[in-house]
Amino acid sequence: MNIILLGPPGAGKGTQSAGLVERHGMRQLSTGDMLRAAVKAGTPVGMRAKEVMERGELVSDEIVSDLIDAELASMAPATGAIFDGYPRTAAQADALDAILARNGRTLDHVIELEVNEDALVERITGRFSCGNCGALYHETANPPKVDGVCDICGSTEFKRRPDDNEETVRMRMQEYRAKTAPILPGYEARGIVTRVDGMAAIDTVAEEVDAILKG
Ligand code: AMP
Repeated sequence: MNIILLGPPGAGKGTQSAGLVERHGMRQLSTGDMLRAAVKAGTPVGMRAKEVMERGELVSDEIVSDLIDAELASMAPATGAIFDGYPRTAAQADALDAILARNGRTLDHVIELEVNEDALVERITGRFSCGNCGALYHETANPPKVDGVCDICGSTEFKRRPDDNEETVRMRMQEYRAKTAPILPGYEARGIVTRVDGMAAIDTVAEEVDAILKG
């Protein structure tokens, strides 16, 4: 099973991907996570991507498609892939088709998380993650059970993404509308798109996503 989670920044792609990994043993391929790791490690890719990401613009198609290509090639054929934050342009959608074909995989579902854009800024500026295990939280919608302590690993270190500020979020949304939303009609023509209300509670969205995977 290979699926794309599509939706603007803050729609819940990362949260839903983490749930799918846990429930179904699928693998999350998040180009955003890969790029942040590259920035942290100071690799040539990371050095090229850092400022582009800080502005909320898109990194080059070639860089992200190469990252996906390498990751997919390392995966066992039976492991399902969740594409999170990729593809984001028409060129990336074409590249993904070629990469999947080379790996003997087909795209089963494109799940679009539909959200009210006005709520996204609040969602994004309130989110943070565990500095140790990466578990995702939100100040009001999904806080840790014990204030200041990670539910999963007990760490007390948390971090925020540098691009989760209002100005950058608005640029990221603009990029989504201009470059990413236009790839949906191509997938619709293949009959593989399902829309889910991304404003619903995390568990409700997860149930709907599971229902789609079951067919
Ligand atoms: P994300 O974690 O998916 O919100 O991505 C964070 C940032 O990484 C984006 O704002 C872009 O600058 C960059 N990025 C992540 N995925 C892609 C992609 N598929 N194409 C271009 N840029 C990307």
